Amino acid sequence: MKKIVIIKYGELTTKKDNINLFISTLRDEVKRALDGLSAEISYDKGRMFIGADDEYYDKIILKLQKVFGIHEINLGYQIDDNSIEEIEKQVIALVSERDFKTFKVETKRSDKTYPLTSMEVSRAIGGVILKNKEGIKVDVHNPEVVVHVEIRHNKSYIYFDKIAGLGGYPVGVLGKGMLMLSGGIDSPVAGYLAMKRGVRIEGVYFESPPHTSEAAKNKVISLAKTLADYSGYIKLHVVNFTKIQETILKECPREYLITIMRRMMYRIAYRIALKNNAKVIINGESIGQVASQTLTSMYAINSVIDMPVIRPVACFDKLDIIDIAKKIETYDISIQPFEDCCTIFVPEHPVINPDRAKCSEYETYFDYESLIDEAIRNEEVIKVENKVSREFNNIL
Ligand code: ATP
Ligand code: MG
Repeated sequence: MKKIVIIKYGELTTKKDNINLFISTLRDEVKRALDGLSAEISYDKGRMFIGADDEYYDKIILKLQKVFGIHEINLGYQIDDNSIEEIEKQVIALVSERDFKTFKVETKRSDKTYPLTSMEVSRAIGGVILKNKEGIKVDVHNPEVVVHVEIRHNKSYIYFDKIAGLGGYPVGVLGKGMLMLSGGIDSPVAGYLAMKRGVRIEGVYFESPPHTSEAAKNKVISLAKTLADYSGYIKLHVVNFTKIQETILKECPREYLITIMRRMMYRIAYRIALKNNAKVIINGESIGQVASQTLTSMYAINSVIDMPVIRPVACFDKLDIIDIAKKIETYDISIQPFEDCCTIFVPEHPVINPDRAKCSEYETYFDYESLIDEAIRNEEVIKVENKVSREFNNIL
């Protein structure tokens, strides 16, 4: 009998056509997450198994809890035999080490040629547990311990506790999205939720030095690093937005500043997305949160690009977004008080229902195309990894 981690990936199995891609991506993701932990990964019909040196199992479980696409994690035991006698023997050894008063046995049988039904196995094992342990009884409704038995071809597995996985799809299986990542609370949560649906994200951050500080940029890098815990790395595009922002401030009516600024951000994010093979833009906009997030604003801003914009937190209350931010540990980083480029130029009375035609007219007051070209040409690309960060320009 040897220790083993059993991984279940419920939702994936419903995607029949893509099953091979899903499994190979999940396998790659598991491999990445368990790098350096002596893990040996194997696969058998609807399950992945991880064997490792004993000392690594705690760490392995923690790492697997950050891999999307995993539905459930069990730390259990593998028996290289599936005879009922051998299973009974090993179950007795395992339950003798545990202290409990009530239990039940649940059996799954993927080997349908097995001579006993699942019910018969559960009954047989329940019987030997009762015989070998004093003062215990079966409780099928609310047992202290559930003894799970899985019978497969030539092998069987025993485990007790179920650990919930994150669910969702393995990162990358649905392609790539460009996340507009600011230092706020919302956009890291939006990125996390998109990753959960199998989207690999790259980030684009607009900075406006000297109006925004190096500390604000480092905060965004820390956020990307926290998100990279779920995907291994994140490619972050840092775009200098100063000239564009100052030009809008000089040339356009004050009340349209934010709307036009955001139209420029969208245009740049779109161009960077196309260049990097991302199929959607993702951002942290939430309906009604600020003037630029009214429906009319979204319409006026979104209309400058021809690409879907996914807004995972669009319909969430702020408190719900904060709950997720705390859970994924981006909240404490996000609330560090460094100005980002949106907050420093906010006019007193931004237009709440911007008119698209007016936006287009005001944008003829300056040559934004060449400013955008320049900003993209000078982008800084940072590969943010979950362990160490390395910086380099345009070589990815
Ligand atoms: P908060 O969490 O406080 O609302 P925020 O970053 O969401 O902060 P908003 O002004 O609400 O700020 O911006 C809406 C969305 O636009 C952000 O979630 C983000 O996706 C994008 N965005 C805003 N500013 C930037 C920026 N400087 N760089 C990249 N994306 C940005
Ligand atoms: Mg916001």
